Amino acid sequence: MADPRDPDCLFCKIVDGAVPATVVRETERTLAFRDIHPQAPTHVLVVPKAHYPNAATLAAADPEVAAALLTEAAEVAVDERIAESGYRLIFNTGQGAGQTVFHAHVHVLGGEPFTEGLV
Ligand code: AMP
Ligand code: ZN
Repeated sequence: MADPRDPDCLFCKIVDGAVPATVVRETERTLAFRDIHPQAPTHVLVVPKAHYPNAATLAAADPEVAAALLTEAAEVAVDERIAESGYRLIFNTGQGAGQTVFHAHVHVLGGEPFTEGLV
C-alpha cells in the first residue's frame, strides 16, 4: 500500500484541507473538486484520498478505489446535470500525455458539445 499522503503533493494538500478547493462530492476514500482552470462548463477532478502517482499505480494497488473513481465521476455527472447530454472522463498518465499533478485523478468534462476527439 502506498503512503496515504505525500507532503509535497498538491492534491494531498487539498485532501487534507491545507490547500482550498471547491469540493463537490466526498466519500470515505475519494474527493471530487472543481478544476482551478476549467476547460469546459463542468470540469471536476475526482481523486483518491490516498496518494498514488497515477491511475495505473492506483489500479494495481487498489482496484476497489480505482473503480470508485468511475462511480464518483458518474455521480458528479448526475449532480452537474451532464449525464444525459454527455461527458468525457480523462486520465492523463505521464508527462508525455500532459499529466502535471502526479496524484491519480480523473477529469470529468461536460456541459458543452465535444465535436472533435483524439480517439
Ligand atoms: P493533469 O494535467 O491531468 O495532471 O491535471 C491537473 C489538473 O489540476 C489541471 O487541469 C489543473 O488545472 C488542475 N489544478 C492545478 N492546481 C489546482 C488547484 N489548486 N485546484 C484545483 N485544480 C487544480
Ligand atoms: Zn498526493
